Amino acid sequence: MLTEFNHPEVVHAVTCDACNTQHPHSREIQLYALPEVVLIHVGRIMWQGVQRQKIQTHVSFPLGNLDLSPYLSNHYQRAPADDPDLYDLVSVVEHHGRFFGSGHYTTFCYTPETQSWLR
Ligand SMILES: [Zn+2]
Repeated sequence: MLTEFNHPEVVHAVTCDACNTQHPHSREIQLYALPEVVLIHVGRIMWQGVQRQKIQTHVSFPLGNLDLSPYLSNHYQRAPADDPDLYDLVSVVEHHGRFFGSGHYTTFCYTPETQSWLR
């Protein structure tokens, strides 16, 4: 999933500022610096025309030591002695339900005091 993060993405149905018609464009995200806290939102909507569906694909995520340095822009200059930017997972929000108009959310939070996950 993260390997796709900074690949160009084709965006359809965007009105072009130059020719004022709709044709595919591309966009990409580049990271120039890494923050202390990272929030990753996994897009779960797939559009098929005007219909939207929830993407049911399982998402796995490391509990610790997520290294985001491979996703930094090439413009970001890093000193060789820098420690890698490693992140630990501390919370997850899940949507349960097949459709977006119904279902419920569950949150899991890591508590360092007890070294366990609360639901
Ligand atoms: Zn155009």
